Amino acid sequence: MLPGDFIGTTEEFRAGAQTYEKTGGVYAAIAGTTRVNTVRRSVSVIPCTNTPPVLRKGDIVIGQIVGLRDSLAMVTIAGAKGVVDREIPNVGSAVVHVSNVKRGYVKEIAHEFGIFDILKAKIVDLKNMRLDTSEPDMGVMKALCSNCRTAMVRHDSKLKCPECGRIETRKLATGYGTGII
Ligand code: ZN
Repeated sequence: MLPGDFIGTTEEFRAGAQTYEKTGGVYAAIAGTTRVNTVRRSVSVIPCTNTPPVLRKGDIVIGQIVGLRDSLAMVTIAGAKGVVDREIPNVGSAVVHVSNVKRGYVKEIAHEFGIFDILKAKIVDLKNMRLDTSEPDMGVMKALCSNCRTAMVRHDSKLKCPECGRIETRKLATGYGTGII
């Protein structure tokens, strides 16, 4: 349960600890698991003892590439799309495995991502914080020239540096350069 989640109707339950009633429903006031008292017919929410699951599988996150290895890219998560009712803590790092970069063969991950790139990706494995960018609207949203650190401009399927003219490749999101997440 997350804050605001519907637990049941007021006909089924009385609102217990850490819940509230609203228009005939009982809702969770905090993150946790529900506990039903069958004698009192009340429901409570018991807070999670470990970190509450503030991000969920399938969430779209925005992050920055902070490291590249042979088979994966390391990402620091900066936020999540549409998650306004859930607190995004400092969730730390995630990875994009080479098999989750795009559909088709990836020869070198350095041809798809660059250090400091801003990435839009979907969480496919919450436990290991694995992200996927294979869908067309997922991938690099903003990239800096590896030569002079200028924001690169999209030219067809490649990126060009308006400052030094360098051409680079990325696994681009359809929204590259728009700033629209
Ligand atoms: Zn440049």
